Amino acid sequence: MEGKYFIKDHHEEINKHEHVIFEFVDGTDLRYHDTRKFGRMNLVLKENLETVEGVHKQGIEPIDDKLTKEYLFNNFKKRKLPMKTLLLDQTIISGLGNIYADEVLFASRINPQKLGTDITLDECASIVCAARQIILAAIKCGGTTIRSYTSSLGVTGRFQQNLMVHKRENQECKICQTMIKRVVIGGRSSYYCENCQKIND
Ligand SMILES: [Zn+2]
Repeated sequence: MEGKYFIKDHHEEINKHEHVIFEFVDGTDLRYHDTRKFGRMNLVLKENLETVEGVHKQGIEPIDDKLTKEYLFNNFKKRKLPMKTLLLDQTIISGLGNIYADEVLFASRINPQKLGTDITLDECASIVCAARQIILAAIKCGGTTIRSYTSSLGVTGRFQQNLMVHKRENQECKICQTMIKRVVIGGRSSYYCENCQKIND
C-alpha cells in the first residue's frame, strides 16, 4: 500500500501514478508515485505543523531515542489487543508496517496474538531494540521488495533476503526449523514461528 519516491530526469515521461513532482534546479525531479492514492500531502509552515490532521497523533519512530521500553509498556499494558495490532498502531510507534511488525515480533520472541495487557517490561525492551535494528538494517538494504515494489521501475530493496518470518508460510524457521505459520490478526496477514514465539513465554 506504499507510496514511493523516485529521482528522475525532468524530461523523463511522467508516469500516470506520479502525483506530486518536485522540480530541482539541477534538472532532476523528485516524483511521488502512489498507485492506490492512499498517500496524503500537506504544505504547511513548520510552526503550523501541529494543525495538520493526524500529526499530533503520530507515535514515536523506531529510530527516535524517545522510544523507550517504559513508553511502550505504558501504551501496551492498558490495551487488550494482540501485539501485532498494537505494533501497527501508528499512534504508538510510527512507521512500522506489516512486514517489519512481523519481523520485530519474531526477533523479540513475542507471539503476535499475545495481548498487550500480558506484555512485560523486558519484552518492551526487546521490541525497542529489535525495531531499531530491523529498520536500520532495512534502510541499509534499500528497503524490502515484495509485490508492488516492482523491479520494472528500476528500484528494488534487498531486505526481503533477511526476512525471518514474513511471507514465509510453510517454510522452515531459520532458527529452529519449525514450519512458519500464517494467521490473520486485525485483518492483516501475520507470520510467526509457534516454537520461537510461544504465547505464554
Ligand atoms: Zn523458530
